[in-house]
Amino acid sequence: MGSTIPIALPALKTSPKFIFFTDFDGTITQQDSNDFMTDNLGFGPELRKKGNEDVLYERRDFRDSFRDMLDSINTPFNECIETLKKNITLDPGFKEFFEWAKENNVPIVVLSGGMEPVIRALLAHMLGEKEAETLQIVSNDVAVRKGKTSINEAGGWEIVYHDDSGFGHDKSLEIRPYARLPAEERPVLFYAGDGVSDLSAAKETDLLFAKAGRDLVAYCEREHVPFTTFQDFSEILATVKDIVAGKLSVKEAAIGRRS
Ligand SMILES: [Mg+2]
Repeated sequence: MGSTIPIALPALKTSPKFIFFTDFDGTITQQDSNDFMTDNLGFGPELRKKGNEDVLYERRDFRDSFRDMLDSINTPFNECIETLKKNITLDPGFKEFFEWAKENNVPIVVLSGGMEPVIRALLAHMLGEKEAETLQIVSNDVAVRKGKTSINEAGGWEIVYHDDSGFGHDKSLEIRPYARLPAEERPVLFYAGDGVSDLSAAKETDLLFAKAGRDLVAYCEREHVPFTTFQDFSEILATVKDIVAGKLSVKEAAIGRRS
């Protein structure tokens, strides 16, 4: 009691006028951490690509195909993290965007179909421990596999999905309560992503940044979702700064593919 902010809307805590939702793998980072683990520690790129195709042609749910990928990795969880720290790199403009957002009361919410402990560890490594703690992350979890005693033993971990959706984590569920706030309380909502799992989320926000050259761009065009493309977060920062300053509207910013 005492607060009017529903517990389900943590990004409203500082009464922001803008909220920035973002995907993690391939958006904040330059590589996909789950693909990297599957290709290098699990069953390899050939089976992974076949799995992606099965999902694309609706022969299987994403959640089952993704679980197969991760189940093929026998490496202890702590060793997976160490390998990822050496191989996954941050988008070159993200740090500056992160700092600007912090100073200007634009909460960043990470919505990921990956695993929260992986994302936390990578962000702590790339941004700093304290900085990473300030980010809200909504993702799947990791648990000790049945018959094992620790995630840090061989074959010891498995993914625990966030919800029952076919994606394992339906990103639109997190955004919708913000999108449905009464107009006078509703912040402007941004989203950045690169893949198919971002589409449902993208439809809920006011402006979508889709990574140039990735699947999400074609999906947005087909589904008539207003968007603009980005190469890295420095372009996102420039656009968001103009919108926050009132120099550009979200409608004007949604120009589709940038050449
Ligand atoms: Mg992605």
